[in-house]
Amino acid sequence: MTTGATVWLTGLPSAGKTTIATALADTLRAAGRRVEVLDGDEIREFLSAGLGFTRQDRDTNVQRIGFVAELLASHGVLVLVPVIAPYADSREAVRKRHQAQGTGYVEVHVATPVDVCSVRDVKGLYARQAAGELTGLTGVDDPYEVPENPDLRIETQGSTVEQSAAAVHALLAEKGLTI
Ligand code: ADP
Repeated sequence: MTTGATVWLTGLPSAGKTTIATALADTLRAAGRRVEVLDGDEIREFLSAGLGFTRQDRDTNVQRIGFVAELLASHGVLVLVPVIAPYADSREAVRKRHQAQGTGYVEVHVATPVDVCSVRDVKGLYARQAAGELTGLTGVDDPYEVPENPDLRIETQGSTVEQSAAAVHALLAEKGLTI
């Protein structure tokens, strides 16, 4: 069977996680690879409905996503997870569970700086936080623990989406995960 794996794209809101995951998924699917993208917003609407943004709820959300990703990956799917996952210990728990099951796990830090993310502000979250309409925004008034040892760190400012997606693609190819 084809080797499955989970590719977790962690980073701040508007860093480029979803955009890169979607572009990469298109490329891989076109090449016949079975790919699933576990979108954070979709997950929060269904699988994690009712969870908020406390540290504990964020951890529960990440563990649930990690569980589903691991299941899919164990069946040969390449699972792309563009989800903030701000806490190092939550990410580590997901990695450890994959490793315990012998399932591949790759961490990509989409390391776009907060000042670039806040200008992009795809969902208007930074503006709402600045206007006092929202609190607990990751990277602004809520923690983001920068991954110390990601498998790949990319900075998207000054790169095209294609270049960023290609950087992740190259890593996966190197690890034999693209076919
Ligand atoms: P996230 O999922 O991390 O919250 P999104 O992918 O929704 O962020 O939004 C990132 C925004 O940044 C998009 O509007 C995208 O077009 C833009 N962008 C600019 N350059 C890049 C790049 N090199 N890679 C990814 N996104 C980029």
